[in-house]
Amino acid sequence: MKDKKKEKMIAQDIKIEPHKKSDTDKVLPVKLTGNSRFKFNCHKGVKCFTACCSNINIVLPPYDLLRLRKRLGMSSEDFINQYCEIEILAKTLLPVITLKMQNDEKRSCPFVTPDGCTVYEDRPNICRYYPIGMATLRNKEAEGGKDEFYFLTKEDHCKGFEEDKEWTIAEWRKDQEADVYDDVNRGWMDILIKKKSFGEREFPEIKNQMFFMVSTNTDYFRTFVFESSFLDTYDIPAGRIEKVRTDDAELLKLAYEWLRSAMFAQEPLIFKEGVLAARKEQADAVMRKVYGGKDKE
Ligand code: SF4
Ligand code: SF4
Repeated sequence: MKDKKKEKMIAQDIKIEPHKKSDTDKVLPVKLTGNSRFKFNCHKGVKCFTACCSNINIVLPPYDLLRLRKRLGMSSEDFINQYCEIEILAKTLLPVITLKMQNDEKRSCPFVTPDGCTVYEDRPNICRYYPIGMATLRNKEAEGGKDEFYFLTKEDHCKGFEEDKEWTIAEWRKDQEADVYDDVNRGWMDILIKKKSFGEREFPEIKNQMFFMVSTNTDYFRTFVFESSFLDTYDIPAGRIEKVRTDDAELLKLAYEWLRSAMFAQEPLIFKEGVLAARKEQADAVMRKVYGGKDKE
């Protein structure tokens, strides 16, 4: 079977791009905003129902993965083993999780049936956005150092454009709850953009492992927060700590801040008073041991 061009959520800069099924499918070269309007509807009555649910490459950001595995009542490990593949994301060299298509002729999504998506309420964000795409470009002059915009993809097989329903992109995102997913995943996307700014430079393996742990295993990260010296190290308000205990979205946002500290030496998390001084003292003690009490020349 012809290997069709893959759809991806990529970090170049970062793009959420709808499924592309053939060379005649068109990404319309127009930058759109939240107020841009388009006509589209998707429902069980369209002739192409579920035609977009095969032969696609769906990267699962942390919140997408979390929602799916909880929906299925699975641990991260079991979900990844059964439904996912690990991919090194182009231009960031970071390991990410993608949904594994089935081995049938169409390479169907594991969750599609003739009646539609069996995980609909927890479907990945890219399925929510479709047929809209979103891109984030680094732009020092733009607010927050990045320029976010949307674009539309018209695919031959998709009859949703023949429907009369009209939306703004902001209405579509809200209706599909893509705004909820974006809110949680934004910090993760920022890490991809930041990593891409380092070019093809590889980071120490330990940093890739930290990124992968945060991206795939929220339970492990929660244990790390509450059972290591994490809370003795960082100054985190008590109210936030309590939220993180039970709220996965809050936990992920904290995880991204920690990752930025660990991967890029950025300081979204503030050290507790005395932590830096104690670390310096430890480092000095090591140096004294190495140099036998003499100053390093
Ligand atoms: S997760 Fe659901 S909506 Fe997304 S491709 Fe699979 S079946 Fe389709
Ligand atoms: S209308 Fe488009 S989005 Fe809806 S099922 Fe058909 S191909 Fe998929």
